[in-house]
Amino acid sequence: MITPLVPVTEPDLRGRERQYVNEALDEGWISSSGRFIDRFEREFAAYCGVKHAIACCNGTVALHLILATLGIGPGDEVLVPSFTYIASANAVTYTGATPVLVESDPTTWNLDPERLEEALTPRCKALIAVHLYGRPCAMPALRAFAARHGLHLIEDAAEAHGATIGGRKAGAWGLAAAFSFFGNKLVTTGEGGMVTTDDDLLAEQLRLYKGQGMDPERRYWFSVVGYNYRMTNLAAAIGCAQLERVDQLLEQRLRIAGAYRERLLPYADRFGWQLASEDPESRHVHWLFSLRVPGRHRDPLMAFLRERGIDSRPFFHALHTLPVYQDGRFHGHRRLDHARLLGETGLNLPTYSRLDEHTIDRITAAMVEYFAPHTTVRG
Ligand SMILES: *Cc1c(COP(=O)(O)O)cnc(C)c1O
Repeated sequence: MITPLVPVTEPDLRGRERQYVNEALDEGWISSSGRFIDRFEREFAAYCGVKHAIACCNGTVALHLILATLGIGPGDEVLVPSFTYIASANAVTYTGATPVLVESDPTTWNLDPERLEEALTPRCKALIAVHLYGRPCAMPALRAFAARHGLHLIEDAAEAHGATIGGRKAGAWGLAAAFSFFGNKLVTTGEGGMVTTDDDLLAEQLRLYKGQGMDPERRYWFSVVGYNYRMTNLAAAIGCAQLERVDQLLEQRLRIAGAYRERLLPYADRFGWQLASEDPESRHVHWLFSLRVPGRHRDPLMAFLRERGIDSRPFFHALHTLPVYQDGRFHGHRRLDHARLLGETGLNLPTYSRLDEHTIDRITAAMVEYFAPHTTVRG
C-alpha cells in the first residue's frame, strides 16, 4: 500500500458546507445575489469587529478593489513588504502604481516598521501591512507611521483570519483590509475574498466598483469604470458554514503550533532553527506553521521530508529577487537582506485541522533525523 503524502494543507469542510451549498442550489441562487452572500458579509464584518464587509471573488481582487477605489494609479507608489506573497504587490501593479518594497524584521518576519522611512517618497499614497503566515503586524506602529505621512493603511489579512493585536482583530486596523478564502486558507470558500472597512463612504464606493460601476439607484447607468469582482452565493454558502466553526478552526491551528513548538524548541539552538518569535500582545493564528533553518539545509531538508512522505513549502521568495520586481525602481537599490534571507531559509510544515499528534511526531522526528548528522554536538 502506498501511504499518501502528508499534505501541507487541506480544507476542513466537516460542518454544514454541503448542506448550505445544496440549499443554494435547490433555491436556484447560484450567482452573485442570495441570502448566503448577505449573511456571510454580515457575519464576517461582525467577526472582525468592523461595520462593513464586501465579498469578492478572491483575495487578490479584494486588494485591487481597495486600491482602485481609493484612486491609486499611475505615478503613485505603495509601500509593500518585499517578503510576501506576490499578490500583495501585483494588486498595486494592476492599478498602474509602483509597489515599493520594504525590508522585513528577521524575528517577526513581517515588514519592519523601522525600515519604512527609508522607502518613503513624496509619491507614496498607501502602505500595505501583510500579516504573514498568520502572525499579525505591529499595527499600532504602522498606524502611527501612516497617519504621520498621510498614507492610506491597508491590511493584507489573507493569511490572518482571527488574528488579533491587543484584542482587536486583523482586518479592523487599517482604512480597509483584504482577506482571501482560497482553498488552503484558514477560512475557505474555494476561491473567494473579502474587503473589510469601518468607513461608510468607502464601503459604498467599494460596492460600486465591485459591481461593474452600476449606479445602485439606476439600472445600467454607469458613471465609473468598475469591475466584476463579485462572489457567488455558492461560495458564500461554504463561507457561512466555515464561519460557524471558525473558533474550532483556529483552536486546531493553535493546538498544532503548540505541538510543533514543544517538539522542535528543544533542538532549536543545536540545529540552528528559528521559530516565530512569541508576542504576548497579539494572537498569531499559524495559518501555516513555519520555521527557519540554516539556508544550505532548507531545500535538502524539504527533499528529505518528501522521501519520508511529508510535504512542505518553501517560504515565498522576496519579491525584489524575482524577475518581475528586481528592477531598481521597486526597491531603490536598498539591500533588503532580511527579506531575501527569509525567502532562502524558511519553510512551512503541514498545518491542517486533521493533523494528529502522531503525524506531528513523525514530521519532527524526520527533521531531527535529517539534522543530526549535520551538527557536531556541543557541550
Ligand atoms: C492568498 C494570498 C493573497 C491572495 O489571495 P487569493 O484569494 O489567492 O487571490 C494575497 N495575499 C496574501 C499574503 C496571500 O497569502
